[in-house]
Amino acid sequence: MRAVDLIRKKRDSGELSREEIDFLVSGYTRGEIPDYQMAAWLMAVWIRGMNRSELAALTEVMLYSGEVLNHSEIPGKKVDKHSTGGIGDKTSLILAPIVAAGGLTVPMISGRGLGHTGGTLDECGMGLIGQTAEIAPADKKIYALRDATSTVENIGLICASIMSKKLAEGIDALVLDVKTGSGAFMKKEEDSVRLAEVMVETGKRMGKKVVALITDMGQPLGRMAGHSNEVAESIEILRGRGPADLRDLSLDLSAWMFYLGERTKNVEEGRRLAETMIATGQALEKFRQGIRLQGGDERVIDEPERLPTARLLFHVASSASGFVTSTNCEGFGIALAMLGGGREKKEDQIDHGVGLEFHKRIGDPVELGEPLATIHYNSDAKLAEAKSLIGESYHVGEEAPKEKRPLVRRLIGA
Ligand code: URA
Repeated sequence: MRAVDLIRKKRDSGELSREEIDFLVSGYTRGEIPDYQMAAWLMAVWIRGMNRSELAALTEVMLYSGEVLNHSEIPGKKVDKHSTGGIGDKTSLILAPIVAAGGLTVPMISGRGLGHTGGTLDECGMGLIGQTAEIAPADKKIYALRDATSTVENIGLICASIMSKKLAEGIDALVLDVKTGSGAFMKKEEDSVRLAEVMVETGKRMGKKVVALITDMGQPLGRMAGHSNEVAESIEILRGRGPADLRDLSLDLSAWMFYLGERTKNVEEGRRLAETMIATGQALEKFRQGIRLQGGDERVIDEPERLPTARLLFHVASSASGFVTSTNCEGFGIALAMLGGGREKKEDQIDHGVGLEFHKRIGDPVELGEPLATIHYNSDAKLAEAKSLIGESYHVGEEAPKEKRPLVRRLIGA
C-alpha cells in the first residue's frame, strides 16, 4: 500500500477500506507517513467526506492507536462530557468538580485550543488531563495537524477525534455538547444535528449511554474568554455566582451526567443535585482538591489574581446606539488567537493572560461610545487588528431582535 494512492482515491471520491485507513492512520502515528501526506489526505476527506463505515473504521483505528483505560477497580459509574468547542466555553472546569462531588467518577481528557475555539487543557491542567502519548495518540497528532491545515470543520473528522478520545477513557456514559451558530465549527443547526447523530450512534454502537445537547454558540458563553479569564469565571460559578447562561448550561449538562451515570432517577433530580453541590461549597472544594492533587497552586481558588494576567486593557466602544442584534462569534475567537490566546502553528506558545470580557449580549441596549467588550492584552502590535475585528463582530441595529435564542436548542439520543 502507498499513501499517495490512498490520497488519490479519496481525492477522487473513492471509499477507503478499514485496512487502508489503518495503514494511513497507524503509519502516521508511528511517524512513517509524513505530515504533508496526512495533511493532503485530511483535506481530501474534508472535501469529499466519509461514509458511515469509513467513519466507524477511522474512529476505531484512532481509539486503538493507544491504550484504552479500564477503571473497573473504581466502584460506580464513570461519566464524561465533551463539547465540540466554542468561545468562552469553559463548562468542563465546572462540571468535573460538580459531578465528582456528587459521587460519580469523571475521567476527563480535555483538548487543547482548536481553530478559533479555546481548549480546556490550555486553561487548567486539572483532572481533567490532557491527551497523553498513550491515549488516542493518533488523534493527538491529527488534531494538531488539522488545526494548522484548515481541516477542522468536518463532521467525520470531528466525530472520530472526539469519540476516539472519549471511548479510550473507559467511561460508561457520555454527554455531548454540540455547539451551533456563528462561534461553532458547525454554523448551521442541521449540520450540528447531523454531527450529534453520528456521535451518539458511534457511542451507542460501542455500548455507551450517550446523549447530545445542541446548544447555542451564536454568542460567547458567559462573559469571559481567554485562559486565565475562563478559569476565574469557572471559580465564580462554583461559588454560586457568575453569569446566568453559563450557570444554566453547566447545571443542565451536570444533570444529564448524573442521570446517565445512574446517580439520579431523572434529569430534574440531577439538576437539583448539581445545585446542591454548588450551594454547599462541595463542588468548589472538589476543584481545590483536584488542583492540589495534580500539583497545581490551589491558592488560585481564593486569589484568582494569582493566575497570569495581561498588563493592559482596551475598551471597544460601540459606534452606534440601539440594540445588539447578533454577533459574529467566530470573530471573537480569531481576535483572541491574534492577541496570543491561540495558536497559528502547532508549536506556538499560548499567552494565558490575554482575554476578552464581553459587556453586551444579544438583545441588550447600547449607547454610542459605550463599551461592548474589554480586551486584556500584552502587545500593542497585536491589539490593532484584534480591536477592529471585535468591533465588527458586534452587530448593532435600531430594534432588539424579536425572538430569544434558547441556549439548549435540541436533545439528540435521549
Ligand atoms: N473537539 C475535539 O476533541 N476534536 C474536534 O475535532 C473538535 C472539537
